[in-house]
Amino acid sequence: MNIHEYQGKELLREYGVSVPNGKVAFSVEEAVEAAKELGSDVNVVKAQIHAGGRGKAGGVKVAKNLDEVRTYADEILGKTLVTHQTGSEGKEVKRLLIEEGCDIQKEYYVGLVLDRATSRVVMMASEEGGTEIEEVAEKTPEKIFREYIDPAVGMQGYQARRLAFNINIPAELVGKAAKFMLGLYKVFTEKDCSIAEINPLVTTGDGNVMALDAKLNFDSNALYRQKDVLEFRDLDEEDPKEIEASKYDLSYIALDGNIGCMVNGAGLAMSTMDIINYYNGQPANFLDVGGGATAEKVTEAFKIILSDEHVKGIYVNIFGGIMKCDVIAEGVVEATKQIGLEIPLVVRLEGTNVEQGKQILEQSGLNITAADSMADGAQKIVSLVK
Ligand code: ADP
Ligand code: MG
Repeated sequence: MNIHEYQGKELLREYGVSVPNGKVAFSVEEAVEAAKELGSDVNVVKAQIHAGGRGKAGGVKVAKNLDEVRTYADEILGKTLVTHQTGSEGKEVKRLLIEEGCDIQKEYYVGLVLDRATSRVVMMASEEGGTEIEEVAEKTPEKIFREYIDPAVGMQGYQARRLAFNINIPAELVGKAAKFMLGLYKVFTEKDCSIAEINPLVTTGDGNVMALDAKLNFDSNALYRQKDVLEFRDLDEEDPKEIEASKYDLSYIALDGNIGCMVNGAGLAMSTMDIINYYNGQPANFLDVGGGATAEKVTEAFKIILSDEHVKGIYVNIFGGIMKCDVIAEGVVEATKQIGLEIPLVVRLEGTNVEQGKQILEQSGLNITAADSMADGAQKIVSLVK
């Protein structure tokens, strides 16, 4: 789960990790009011969306007085920001962070992620802050330093200091930078983050080290024990189809193609997407209906696929192991009864109760193209949507 920058900064503040003073605003009036309360000479008006790259897209503006705060707030609120992380359709800005302007000396990068190769949390840091870390990794990988953290003892002071030295934090600020890093690690572990990225971390004219940006992601499997984090959830930022799918415990990810996929098992779902691509088609979603899905769950899944206006055809690719083919067939028929089906449907069924499944589909009177194999089905649906 993703949260907004201002929410991430609230969490950091709770843990004593230094961030500028700031307030969230939902309207132009609130923005001006927030700037008055902050009482700073310079304020920064920042679009709050679940995506980075806002600065370059015009979503971060420095305001030198209250009039400018008003102008920028008015300009950014309601605007659809297109950044390299939003996709071409962009994201509408509904909230702003009004924040004290910071006298930046230099920008750095600090991030925490789980490294799957070592099964450890790794802190990465670089003196190339403010730019995308992917770009730094590509062009100047020697400028990224890493510390792998032993889960039994947690991040150690010497690791933080070593990182601070490696990224050339001025000697007199190394202590503050190390404290910052240790605090960030504490937030990461105690709040069950999957990503904690501070880009930029800055040193300031008055000798501080603080986070100017904060991107925190959380492990959804841990949200049951992170009630305060769950309260930060902003459904406006999520795909309505994915929200609907999560109600039924379906693993659904919306994509930008036009072939809806209903598959069981994550591995089969991945390879179904691959084979559609192989035959020059584009999947509209990833969907794993799971092992023990009921006909009702399958019905909901099918309805979610159909609710996507980009979907021009559907490929049902099921290997009935724990999941039974007749249950899938019932779900498909029920969903189409409820909302109709005007686009091509290709079905490939194999495994448990396959004969019953095929029979249910045949007797439904639906216009279904049967496929003999996964590749055959993929080819058929790709040519049908063309
Ligand atoms: P994004 O990563 O989405 O572009 P950031 O929060 O990193 O957004 O802001 C982009 C840039 O704007 C920063 O690299 C920094 O130079 C500047 N900036 C952001 N917040 C402030 C602030 N409070 N004071 C001064 N400059 C800021
Ligand atoms: Mg940033």
